[in-house]
Amino acid sequence: MKYALISDIHGNLEALTTSLDYFSSRGQVDMYICLGDIVGYGADPGACLEIIMNRADLSVIGNHDAAVIGETDINYFNHFARTAVLWTREMITIEQDEYLRALPFSVCRQDLLFTHAAPVDPQDWDYIFNQSDAAHYFKRFNESVCFVGHSHVAGIYGSNGQMSHLGGKTILDPDEQYIINIGSIGQPRNGDPRLSCAFFDSDERSIEIVRLDYDCRAAGKKIIDAGLPAFLAERLSIGR
Ligand code: ZN
Repeated sequence: MKYALISDIHGNLEALTTSLDYFSSRGQVDMYICLGDIVGYGADPGACLEIIMNRADLSVIGNHDAAVIGETDINYFNHFARTAVLWTREMITIEQDEYLRALPFSVCRQDLLFTHAAPVDPQDWDYIFNQSDAAHYFKRFNESVCFVGHSHVAGIYGSNGQMSHLGGKTILDPDEQYIINIGSIGQPRNGDPRLSCAFFDSDERSIEIVRLDYDCRAAGKKIIDAGLPAFLAERLSIGR
C-alpha cells in the first residue's frame, strides 16, 4: 500500500494544494491520510476542510481542530493561536464543524498507528520534537510504526536511534519500532519555509519526508487581508 501523509495544514490552502498536486504527479496513492490540525493560523480553514473531507481516506483530530469546536481549552493557546481559533469558528460551516466533531484521536490500520500528538494518550497533546521525546513511547504501543504531526518538525525516530531523512527514501527495519513525525504542510517550524509531507510504501517499508516550495507569500497576504495577526503571515516566509 502506498500512503500519502499530510499534517498540520492550518488553513494554508496554497500549501495544501501544492502537496496534493505533488502526490497526484507521483502516480498511485492507495490512501490519503491527514494527521490533524486542518485549521487554525491560516486564512482558508473552510476551503482546506472541504478538500480534506473529500480527499482524505483517514483523518484524525488535532488540538487546533478540537479548539475550534470547543473541545480543548484555548487558555493554553498563545495569543496568536487563540485569535486564529476564535476567527476560524466564524468561518466554518455546520457540516465542517460536524466533520471535526466526528474525528477520532487515533486510528490503527494493520501494523500502523496514526495520530496527531503522541502514540499514548493522544488527547494530552504531548509533542514529539526529537529522539528523546520519542524514546518515552517505544514499547508502549503495539504497532510497528506510529505516524504523528503536531510539533511541525519532521523526524524519523527508531527504537534503536534517530534516522536521517534528508534526501530520498529511508528503509525501515522490520525488527524496530518507529515514531515518524511528518512535519507540517501549512506552518513548518524548522527554519525551512518549504512545506513538509510524507510518502510511505508499506510493501517496501520505505518512508520519504518530502519538502516542497509553495507560494507562501500568497498564503501570508491572505492572513493579513483577513485581519489575522501579521506574525502568522511573517512566520510562513521564515519557517518559524
Ligand atoms: Zn499544528
